[in-house]
Amino acid sequence: MLAIDVFTCYGVAGAGSLVGMGLISQIRTDQSRVRGALDLYRWAFCCLSALLWVVLSPDDWRPLVTQVAIGFAAAGVTLLAWAFRQLNGRRTPPRLGWALTAAAAVVLWGMAAFGSDTAYVQAIAWVFAVVSLAMAVDQGWLILRSPRIQRSELSLLVVATLFALIWAITLAHVMSEAGGPYPAHWLYAPDWLLPITALGFAILPLSVAAVVFAIINQRLNQQLRNRALSDDLTGALSRRGLRELGERMLSMQAHQPTSVAVLMMDVDHFKAVNDSYGHQVGDYVLRQITQLTRERLRDDALLARYGGEEFTVLLPVRSHLEASAVAERLRQMLALTPCETRGGPVSITVSIGVAFHRPDGTLEDALARADACLYEAKQAGRNRVVTARPDA
Ligand code: GH3
Ligand code: MG
Ligand code: MG
Repeated sequence: MLAIDVFTCYGVAGAGSLVGMGLISQIRTDQSRVRGALDLYRWAFCCLSALLWVVLSPDDWRPLVTQVAIGFAAAGVTLLAWAFRQLNGRRTPPRLGWALTAAAAVVLWGMAAFGSDTAYVQAIAWVFAVVSLAMAVDQGWLILRSPRIQRSELSLLVVATLFALIWAITLAHVMSEAGGPYPAHWLYAPDWLLPITALGFAILPLSVAAVVFAIINQRLNQQLRNRALSDDLTGALSRRGLRELGERMLSMQAHQPTSVAVLMMDVDHFKAVNDSYGHQVGDYVLRQITQLTRERLRDDALLARYGGEEFTVLLPVRSHLEASAVAERLRQMLALTPCETRGGPVSITVSIGVAFHRPDGTLEDALARADACLYEAKQAGRNRVVTARPDA
């Protein structure tokens, strides 16, 4: 039998929630989705910190204070589940989120006020078991299905699963003794389980806060890395990004029946756009071209800004004809889609050179051959695609 003072555990849980709130408040991010999740975590910890009142309240108030605190704790756990969804970009309609949060608390306050002791204890077991199981299953579904599982996310899943397990056991126990009689204790459980349940509460807030801190830190690092690999103006890959991700694509493609096509695309007479409309409009046109091109490419293609008004596409293709067809579609689409700018619609055309990566060649090599085709396209009058001969 564990000798743990249950009320100390509530105290630790409440104090831990306050610390968690402080930790979460330290995180700065410019991503609104993450900011939204952090707000929810703060609310969750705020609700869970109510457990501190249980320890601080005078003896004759304690039963009432405990009942109020347990309602807040249920709302807190519901908010934790919602916050994790938000952190991972899964939208929960805010009205539904707040309604479920309020429902968890109101059901328990209602049962405390109007239900029998037995019904109250059963309601507590049901609410916490359902919410924590839903949270663990939802997190497991999201984390285990992602292509790259992060260790910090896995730790969060372990915490959520342990918490859910404790409540599943509590619920099973309470229901197996359905009808009571139960002591009028908000956390009714047998002697061997009560300290574990309380310990679960004590550990939950701090471990969640620490792991969320780690997850967000990892994402910010990734974001910094992505920024280093992308171009400021257009958001397409930078040259460095093209080299890093391009090499990776080529080495992966080595074991596939597909080959990689390299498209070099240069905007025709772009200097004239700058001269007629100004550099700002020129910048805007470059961003529009990037966006239009990205939308037309498959997800497995890489798009980079190679230099000023020159773009590179790396595209896994099954045949050389397919590459020319993609380039031709891009050319036509850009020629037919004027960019709506402050100075009015600006029409542009592009010239594209297409070459293919050779199994024994380098990326630089393929880029140079695509560039030679681009030069030919310019010489031949612009607004056209020139594809290297497969054997050239
Ligand atoms: P061509 O058909 O031969 O490619 O003619 P062009 O005018 O497009 O080519 P040129 O190389 O003579 O000029 C490229 C222009 O692209 C000149 C430069 O002002 C413009 N440019 C390069 N980078 C940027 C940029 O970041 N923003 C803007 N607005 N213009 C840029
Ligand atoms: Mg140009
Ligand atoms: Mg150029």
